[in-house]
Amino acid sequence: MAYQTINPYTNEVVKTYDEATPEYIESSLAQAQKLYKQWRNDPIATRIPVLRKLAQIFRDETDSLAKVLTVDMGKLYSEAQGEVQLCAMIADYYADNAEKFLAPRKIDSIAGDAQLENHPLGVLMAVEPWNFPYYQMMRIFAPNFAAGDPIVYKHAANTPASALAFEDAVKRAGAPAGSLTNLFLSYDQVEQVIADPRVQGVALTGSKRGGTAVAAAAGKYLKKSTMELGGVDAFIVAHDADMAQVNEIAPRARLYNVGQVCTSSKRFIVTENHYDEFLANLKKSFAAAKLGDPMDPNTTLAPMNSKKAKEKLQEQVDEAVQNGATLAFVHDPVDSDGQFFLPTILTDIAKDNPAYGQEMFGPVAQVYKVKDDDEAIALANDTDLGLGGIVFAGSAEYGAELASRMETGQVYVNTFFSSLPELEFGGVKQSGYGRELGQNGIMSFVNQELVVKRDAPADNLAGGLVTAAHFN
Ligand code: NAP
Repeated sequence: MAYQTINPYTNEVVKTYDEATPEYIESSLAQAQKLYKQWRNDPIATRIPVLRKLAQIFRDETDSLAKVLTVDMGKLYSEAQGEVQLCAMIADYYADNAEKFLAPRKIDSIAGDAQLENHPLGVLMAVEPWNFPYYQMMRIFAPNFAAGDPIVYKHAANTPASALAFEDAVKRAGAPAGSLTNLFLSYDQVEQVIADPRVQGVALTGSKRGGTAVAAAAGKYLKKSTMELGGVDAFIVAHDADMAQVNEIAPRARLYNVGQVCTSSKRFIVTENHYDEFLANLKKSFAAAKLGDPMDPNTTLAPMNSKKAKEKLQEQVDEAVQNGATLAFVHDPVDSDGQFFLPTILTDIAKDNPAYGQEMFGPVAQVYKVKDDDEAIALANDTDLGLGGIVFAGSAEYGAELASRMETGQVYVNTFFSSLPELEFGGVKQSGYGRELGQNGIMSFVNQELVVKRDAPADNLAGGLVTAAHFN
């Protein structure tokens, strides 16, 4: 496997990197383990200044850090700048809240003076994707660094420069050696690291393909894991939705980051009274997309992250059409050798079409017509995935009622989907398990150690099963 930056706009091979040697993997794990042992005894407060400094670096160096993302995986420079700033917010959020979130929790118990203490778990292995190369790293780094878990990580093969830039920023923020170590690993080496007894937790963000392999390894070696996987998120247009709002948000919900977002709206489920208007507006907006140089501020749609991703998406669209879907819209061709995928709309996708419920990770909208809101919910839930979702309805209250009926991890009503430090992120079904960000995000890899203390044993305390009677 080659770790390589190929600029998807110019197709230039910018740089190729060597895989990690067994010696480097061993020394990285040894250093991380040594740090974990030290961090077990250090208060959380000793690590907070590093997060503050890291946030400052991401703010001060937004432009140069953003450029690395654009060259690595092609995203619009403006969107890359937004990603860098979001990283600063996440670092600040855990600097502000980690001590509060991890404070011991008293438990009212007849056993004695009981409390749950949150201790670090140990070294973590993170496996991360290319679509938000820094944000995905910050989601795992900031909370776990605060908690005291050192991390080794494998980033995506096509975003090695971003992986190194993140590691470098953490070093420059003053994190001790071993806090976060990038390893250019093969898949076999990922499993070897997971098997290592020093590694206590595994976090993956990626597809079902990567998730299945890494979760299997975590299971085999009994390591705690979180999986942040893909989605086919529904965008429901309820019977009473405000169409001015819908028409503004729907195209952005699909085209942001060239549709390469786990929580992009991938299935637009539209009640029949709004269907014609919705489709006409989506076509108009997709037609207006300006494909071009991602560094140019006038460009609104960047190339996809790689040739391979573009070809896979084209195969999925072709297969959908061969199985009866209608190609309702395709953007005009673009005069460039960059890895552009023309914004596309598919309709008439029957339940037996392979595209039904299939994640299309690019600027392709699937649009479904339904009779009413009940049918919309049934269709939204008719999938093995459950990551996010958007509902537009006549009132926030009614939209929230519909949202609660959706089998998914997170829903936004009458607004754009956003990810913010304080909002828990994660899915259900085959979209994964566990949560990142928010208060739950920092609890994923802590040892919630129960300590019960008394001045003397409880009366009649017998070995074996202890019942309430023993404490009377
Ligand atoms: P992917 O193929 O699963 O890759 C993600 C990471 O897993 C990469 O670092 C990849 O390495 C690694 N990987 C893949 N197979 C592996 C294996 N057998 N052993 C060890 N590591 C392995 O995912 P992707 O297609 O690049 O990323 C897009 C997917 O991620 C989409 O499905 C998207 O919805 C999902 N995603 C989910 C979230 C979320 O928070 N839920 C966020 C962003 C993206 P290589 O690059 O070397 O193959």
